[in-house]
Amino acid sequence: MKYDTENANVMKRKKIVAGNWKMNLNYAEAMALTDAIAGRMNENQETEVIVSPPFLFLHEVASQLKDKAMISVAAQNCSDKNSGAFTGEVSPPMIASIGVDYVIIGHSERRKYFYEDNLLLAEKVKGALRNSLLPVYCCGETLEQRNSGKHVNVVKQQIEEGLFHLDKMQMEECVIAYEPVWAIGTGVNATPQQAQEMHAMIRKLISGKYGEKTAESISILYGGSVTPANAEELFNCKDVDGGLVGGASLKADDFLRIIDAMEKVLSRE
Ligand code: PEP
Repeated sequence: MKYDTENANVMKRKKIVAGNWKMNLNYAEAMALTDAIAGRMNENQETEVIVSPPFLFLHEVASQLKDKAMISVAAQNCSDKNSGAFTGEVSPPMIASIGVDYVIIGHSERRKYFYEDNLLLAEKVKGALRNSLLPVYCCGETLEQRNSGKHVNVVKQQIEEGLFHLDKMQMEECVIAYEPVWAIGTGVNATPQQAQEMHAMIRKLISGKYGEKTAESISILYGGSVTPANAEELFNCKDVDGGLVGGASLKADDFLRIIDAMEKVLSRE
């Protein structure tokens, strides 16, 4: 259910557990994982689940999950262009045409290995929204930036340059994922305090630009070594609305336990 900004007091923002499969799994493994997750979705569950397979399997996974409630599919990336002579690229209209709902934009691996900067990412966000794809916009600092005290400004700049060209309605379509680079795939997660501090900063920044209701409506996910063991305490933080999960999303049992952790937190609210 979309958050209703007119009734901010009665509606909760979406709680999301998203799995980023990255460049892992072959076809048979991807389909088996899809089946295992889909087969154990609970009709009464409040958590929205997103799976993000590699492009090659996106169509089939999306078809498989088409009629399932509370589970959606995301692409891991998209082009900033709609069509044309861009060999190897996949555009937002193509992704939208196969029934995919979300696209991850600005993952730190795209920033690092493919030199994607905030200005390019702003174009991707625009292109995604033009085609009714909901962006999951990633931000997060490196260890060096954190150790030198620049982390807040780095994340601030990523949000401002990547998202603040949007109007209010477009902004409300976005999901943000705070993923400190030093926590991704390292087994070292941010502490709940570190996550909460950054999420609160991001929400305040959005509030300053778009107003409190918009800021309160946006789901901000934490990503970086989320596991069944640490998910609950991270999801317990006031401004942490779920997780973007890499490694632990490749094993159905672990991923489902992370979803259960969010359900547990929600059951106490
Ligand atoms: C990610 O790739 O977005 C991620 C958070 O990975 P991991 O959970 O493996 O740290």
